[in-house]
Amino acid sequence: MSMIEFNNVEKYYGKFHALKNINLKIDQGEVVTIIGPSGSGKSTLLRCINGLETVTSGQLLINGYDLADKKTDMNKTRKNVGMVFQHFNLYANKTVMQNITLGPQVVLKQSKAQSEEEAHKLLELVGLNEKANSFPDQLSGGQQQRIAIARSLAMKPKALLFDEPTSALDPEMIGDVLNVMKTVAEQGMTMVVVTHEMGFAQEVGDRIVFMADGSILEDHSDVAGFFKQ
Ligand code: ADP
Ligand code: ADP
Repeated sequence: MSMIEFNNVEKYYGKFHALKNINLKIDQGEVVTIIGPSGSGKSTLLRCINGLETVTSGQLLINGYDLADKKTDMNKTRKNVGMVFQHFNLYANKTVMQNITLGPQVVLKQSKAQSEEEAHKLLELVGLNEKANSFPDQLSGGQQQRIAIARSLAMKPKALLFDEPTSALDPEMIGDVLNVMKTVAEQGMTMVVVTHEMGFAQEVGDRIVFMADGSILEDHSDVAGFFKQ
């Protein structure tokens, strides 16, 4: 069973045709990078996967559940699919620790102690254990993005979506964020990554999908071959 499956999906914003006949299957543990010009529908594709947008027609299955089916529990789908945004979206008035543990406590019903223990492991993973009591504005953009990744992982998602996670960062911070993403990939996470970082796409991606004007123009499992073209 695919983790994510688009069958003949169309998406309109009013009259604007944003996704055109999308067919895409992503297996558990696959890392798919999505590239393409601005406005080609990459972000819309991600937002459909985690239910921030609905598709106009066709079928979209996440973890086997059809998002258009009333019996599908969208809260479970949103819990199963994490998303990391370009602009981090951390809670400014909460510490790093509170940012990471809030979702697990409220949604996963973890105790404070358990959620904090798991948060420390995640902070270690992203290399920021010493920042547990800092507030977001005391961190660099790159550090904030690594916290945002830790926060997503704390919800124990089955898949993680990244929407241009390094585009808002100063160049010297991009490498640290990409390294964390690489570690997450190596741990077997299913990942869909919209990015301009061709090095990441080539080194970490199992597949590369090229979108233009709302369509998937190319979908390559042979990532090395794609870059030799
Ligand atoms: P990309 O991520 O590739 O830059 P997007 O998915 O953000 O592309 O946008 C694809 C197209 O859909 C763009 O032309 C954009 O203006 C349009 N679009 C995106 N979101 C909306 C929206 N909420 N309402 C209307 N048009 C939108
Ligand atoms: P697990 O790893 O235990 O399968 P899930 O969150 O996928 O964890 O599933 C927990 C339960 O919820 C299972 O019984 C599963 O069938 C059901 N479930 C999972 N996702 C959805 C969904 N989006 N809509 C409805 N039921 C779901």
